Amino acid sequence: GSTIGILGGGQLGRMMAICAVNLGYRCIGYAPEGDNVADLVCAEFFSNRWDDSEALADFATRCDVVTWEFENVPVSVLGTFDAKCLHPTRIGLETAQDRLKEKRFVEQLGGRPAPYMAIDTRADLVGAVERIGAPGILKTRRDGYDGKGQWRIASPRDVEALPPLAQPAIYEGFVEFEAEFSVILVRGQDGEIRFWDSTRNEHDSGILARSLLPAGTTIEAQVEEARALARQVADAMRYVGVLTLEFFATANGPVFNEMAPRVHNSGHWTIEGAATSQFENHIRAVAGLPLGDTRTVATRVVMENLIGNQVEGAQHTLTDSDVHLHLYGKRSIRAGRKMGHVTRLERA
Ligand code: ATP
Ligand code: MG
Ligand code: MG
Repeated sequence: GSTIGILGGGQLGRMMAICAVNLGYRCIGYAPEGDNVADLVCAEFFSNRWDDSEALADFATRCDVVTWEFENVPVSVLGTFDAKCLHPTRIGLETAQDRLKEKRFVEQLGGRPAPYMAIDTRADLVGAVERIGAPGILKTRRDGYDGKGQWRIASPRDVEALPPLAQPAIYEGFVEFEAEFSVILVRGQDGEIRFWDSTRNEHDSGILARSLLPAGTTIEAQVEEARALARQVADAMRYVGVLTLEFFATANGPVFNEMAPRVHNSGHWTIEGAATSQFENHIRAVAGLPLGDTRTVATRVVMENLIGNQVEGAQHTLTDSDVHLHLYGKRSIRAGRKMGHVTRLERA
């Protein structure tokens, strides 16, 4: 088949579609009305609600393969598609949409998350803060990203000041980490797995600010264990495409934070910094092509996100020949919004 359907219309879909087009595919996008930026790369773009079953059925008939760039696609939408054409895999989306399911799934495979408890009521939270202790973080089970839907609890007294719980949540203990990293892998339709190097990921107010290579010895010493877990997760799901697991590097080894059943912001550096990018390998995997080489082709990599008004004047970086600028084409600047990124490479 030669048409790839992408669910979601953000920058991840846009960068995925650019790779698909380079490989000779036609892309069509589907996302609810909003500020889509994948639409300019896709031959057709359905800007419809997720519950528009007619539009979804129409979209489905035009696609040979369907994938997603957005982890909160309602699972009900997936029923529209023939499971053979849909990748990575329904269970990946279902699991990663719910922090409680995700942690349980990873724990069953031997992974270690921070101590956590499910929270449905204020009494649950009081009990959890007593059991697990403070500091900790209350996180909504669903729909959180870029640190949204999270409340830091510094002491039991903070619980009283919280707004009423509007949705199921989890409380997890605060992890005293030395650094953060992610494992990004691609798994092909034949089960072959390849990993990219793990960057050191630095966050500002819950949002990824930059990813760095080399990641440093603390992270390097923990990557093998983290990869073994990520491989088990991918195999257990019969995953096809790019999968990301985020970890805290602690004095006691890697602590699992969360997973994303998709390409990931901490893998943007792979566009220029690896032999094959996460976006291209995702497309190769879902389309059933051979996977590309994931090796790093630079000695030093710094990927910096351009968030909110950091994007202003970014074109000045183009005078630096080691810099690669990516602007996502968003129609308006908002605080906390990912507008683009720059990757700085030092080559051997
Ligand atoms: P993403 O945009 O990566 O999907 P998210 O909204 O799902 O983000 P998390 O990854 O859970 O949020 O948390 C965002 C960041 O907040 C983490 O990368 C980390 O820096 C910090 N953080 C989250 N949970 C903890 C924890 N238990 N202990 C310490 N820091 C934490
Ligand atoms: Mg997340
Ligand atoms: Mg995260």
